[in-house]
Amino acid sequence: MSYASAVSIRREVARSARPQEHISVSEAAMRHLRLHTDSGGSEPWNPDLTPYMVEPMDRLIDRRYEAVIFIGPARTGKTGALLGFLAYIITCDPSDAMVLHMSQDKAGKFSKKDLRRMYRESPTLGAELTGRASDNNVFEKTHKSGNVLYIGWPSASQLSGETIKYMAITDMDRMSLSVEGEGSPFLMAKKRTQTFLSRGRTYVETSPGYEVTDPKYSLRHPHEAPPAPGAVALYNQGTMCRRYLPCPHCGEFFMEPSDFSGFSFAHNRDLLGATIPEAIGEVHLICTANGCLIDPSHKQAMSRAGLWVPAGGRIEDGRVVGEPRDAPYASYWLTGVSAAAVASSAALGNSWARALAFTSPTWWMPRP
Ligand SMILES: [Zn+2]
Repeated sequence: MSYASAVSIRREVARSARPQEHISVSEAAMRHLRLHTDSGGSEPWNPDLTPYMVEPMDRLIDRRYEAVIFIGPARTGKTGALLGFLAYIITCDPSDAMVLHMSQDKAGKFSKKDLRRMYRESPTLGAELTGRASDNNVFEKTHKSGNVLYIGWPSASQLSGETIKYMAITDMDRMSLSVEGEGSPFLMAKKRTQTFLSRGRTYVETSPGYEVTDPKYSLRHPHEAPPAPGAVALYNQGTMCRRYLPCPHCGEFFMEPSDFSGFSFAHNRDLLGATIPEAIGEVHLICTANGCLIDPSHKQAMSRAGLWVPAGGRIEDGRVVGEPRDAPYASYWLTGVSAAAVASSAALGNSWARALAFTSPTWWMPRP
């Protein structure tokens, strides 16, 4: 063995034995993840752009929960959060992980676009690749510490097999409720993490994809979602966190609405006939604490100051207090009201109502 290779082996051993950084997932994302920008450059992952993703990300290493369930509209920074989770795993806890996409085609695209950019534009993450072509395949990335990132899709062969510490399922509600008759993608994924006990983790992110099974169902808790299969059912088994926003007028926090009843339309007379874009200019969000009418210009500041409140919790003096209910999953449901990517898109008119319509178009939206 040459001196140089002995040194490089020692270096690799030192790397795998180095003390893990004890930082949160969002801190790891801030330190290590750079995201591709539309202009072709890259910039560090910025929690201020998607402030509602910070807590769900940090719960991913909270040993009280087997899984984190995040339901939100498209384009809310869910991919950034997922890459942030990978940045944490690669830099802080080198372990095997799998990202599951709805199809082999989508999995390949994610790998060739999002992952390739992540490794290319985030120097600390790129440095963890071995540089050997055989370790860097579309569906399998082996890192210097020996841990492997798999990119998979729902199939019995992908979802059974050796144990994996971290499983992440993206767009879960676009997947079949049963993988080749062997169980839901969620339960099969969770099973793969089981030998890690409370250190194994399953992450689900999706926009709701299944119809409500009982539209007449009366909710038992204001945070509960109406009954539907898939991620919504998991949300209801979890801590049921909803986003609360501070009113810019009276200062009270109130829960972001999940339907149009939370909005004031200036021309109600036309509403039944009007299309949503026609109603747009004059829509205000209603502060349910004191009835204040809130202009869309406050949206970003409100989103940034928003708080996740679990079922069983409440806000006192700007802080979440109370006991979250005992649940196996940390679960979050974000509507389009505070979704930043929606707000910043000029094409969407920067309007509350349009943003809300964007949340769950086919799912749970009594239309005006
Ligand atoms: Zn108010």
